Amino acid sequence: MTFCMNISEHIPKFKELIEKSQNIVVLAHYNPDGDAIGSCAAWHDYLLNLGKNSQIVFPNDFPQNLKWIKGSETATIATKELKKAQALIAYADLIICNDFQSFSRVGVLQEISLKSRAKKILVDHHVDPEVEQFDLIFSNVESSSTSELVFEIITLLNPEEPVSKTIAEAIYVGIMTDTGSFSYSSGHKRTFEIVAELIGLGVDTCQIFQDVYSTFSENRMRMLGHCLTNRLKVLPEFSTAYMYLTKEDLREFREIPGDTEGIVNYALAIKGIKFAVFFTEREKRIRISFRSKGEVDCNEFAKTFFNGGGHHNASGGDSFETMQETIQKFEKLLPELKQKSNL
Ligand code: 5GP
Ligand code: MN
Repeated sequence: MTFCMNISEHIPKFKELIEKSQNIVVLAHYNPDGDAIGSCAAWHDYLLNLGKNSQIVFPNDFPQNLKWIKGSETATIATKELKKAQALIAYADLIICNDFQSFSRVGVLQEISLKSRAKKILVDHHVDPEVEQFDLIFSNVESSSTSELVFEIITLLNPEEPVSKTIAEAIYVGIMTDTGSFSYSSGHKRTFEIVAELIGLGVDTCQIFQDVYSTFSENRMRMLGHCLTNRLKVLPEFSTAYMYLTKEDLREFREIPGDTEGIVNYALAIKGIKFAVFFTEREKRIRISFRSKGEVDCNEFAKTFFNGGGHHNASGGDSFETMQETIQKFEKLLPELKQKSNL
């Protein structure tokens, strides 16, 4: 395993691995988001142009508003075609792993991925990568998104040729969605320089914003209204706000994949709130999203108490208790968090 913060150092090794491989799987985490899909779509186009047999594999399906991303329509989705997804991974020469730091994040594909004889390359920006699971690691927590890293790597792999418009659009979606449309502190000078390059390559930023964020169904907007009106609790003494949606809520508003994305940010948008949490009742688990402003360490909190992780200001986790028990547990943890994080 080679851990790499300085990207250029390990480009020759990456190049060699790609050259030696014919069957290449491009993999992302469970519940693939804009960054995960953007990264995979960019690799896919890059590898196809090199004449490789590239296959995108996702553990489960992804939101409708991201289906327009070129190449995503070819993805093998394990929850729909498990045998095919497993075979692709088992017989791959190389697996490029995007936007996750451990195979525990690929759901039903975890075991087969760990067992596969393929070389595994990680490209990611989450904290604490499981270094022993990969052969080569490109990990930078400073990076706004995995897509930003993918762009840097692709331009170093092939400096002579400008990236295709397909790649540029995919990378842009990843950066835009993972930076909260350029509103988070994770967007650095370099991020904007890359965006300028992407615009130069023909990316229509206005169109992409509309495609991603202005395509919700009426049901979804009403579900958001219900959530804000009836399912929001504000705890000013802890600078915290949380929301939840039960299975019945989701059924009532005919939820489809992607409908709960971004809802947590509304709680964080309340003045004075530094910690926002969103609980969603799923099959056999409560899915939790954590977001913060400033000091509160979402990654640490999710990892310590809710079987999850992620980034300092954005993380996710799961609880295997009921909604009521989960919320009770969460509320009990706040006094300690307040002391620790200056809430
Ligand atoms: P979301 O709340 O949007 O599902 O996740 C927020 C961020 O945390 C994303 O970057 C996501 O990749 C990461 N994340 C979500 N769930 C988990 C988890 O269970 N483990 C880890 N390590 N990261 C997670
Ligand atoms: Mn990401």
